[in-house]
Amino acid sequence: MSETLRQQANDLFDLSLTDTQIEQFATYARELIAWNEKINLTAIIDPDGIRVRHFLDSLSVVTVNTFQDGAFIVDIGTGAGFPGLPLAIAFPQTRVTLIDSTGKKITFLDHVIKTLGLSNVRTLKARAEEAGHISHHRAKYDVVLARAVARLPGLVEYMLPLARVGGRCIAMKGDTAQQEADDAKRALKILGGKLSRIEGVSLPDVESTHQLVVIEKTDPTPKGYPRSPGIPTRKPI
Ligand code: SAM
Repeated sequence: MSETLRQQANDLFDLSLTDTQIEQFATYARELIAWNEKINLTAIIDPDGIRVRHFLDSLSVVTVNTFQDGAFIVDIGTGAGFPGLPLAIAFPQTRVTLIDSTGKKITFLDHVIKTLGLSNVRTLKARAEEAGHISHHRAKYDVVLARAVARLPGLVEYMLPLARVGGRCIAMKGDTAQQEADDAKRALKILGGKLSRIEGVSLPDVESTHQLVVIEKTDPTPKGYPRSPGIPTRKPI
């Protein structure tokens, strides 16, 4: 997968991955396949699928965001690390926090981070609704990411409290992106967000186009948000 990944990251996203980074991606894929036999991390376990649907899909966020050195990034509901961990590998000067509520996924991520020798990534086992009230996480991030976690009306209540004013949230969505964005209008207004744009992304040999929903954080999120665990998705604003 290595040379293909290098070529495609370059052709699609103008990213020049070094030998070290390519080796890190290869090790990550190997560990994902090996650990997936013990714990359920992903339904995609073939090397080509991992390259395209996990690695390139995660890296596709570069089409809507420049990852500045020193930027604080958080990935909510990261699961086996997507999209945050591939971005942390590709941009070693950023500081990435991976949040998930499932302990065994955090155990896997801690193992991979250690194995790859990444010093720019931290994990947090927490629900997003809790993380949004922790003082050193709330309103601290330049970029808040999420893929396949919840519908946008609830998801923005997970994401926006963590973004600093002037920062942004990027939700990775399928073809329901526009509908979800329409449904999230009221929540965005209350939580201090503004829909900026929805950008389609095509990946090699993947029929459907993915959509990146970009939301700017324009105002502070009111104190009472996020509400208690479970409420944002059960009773979206
Ligand atoms: N983002 C990864 C991906 O695209 O491959 C994982 C997606 S998986 C379908 C959803 C993940 O979100 C799970 O690992 C789950 O534990 C986590 N999750 C769901 N709700 C969450 C919440 N409120 N706070 C933190 N993690 C959450």
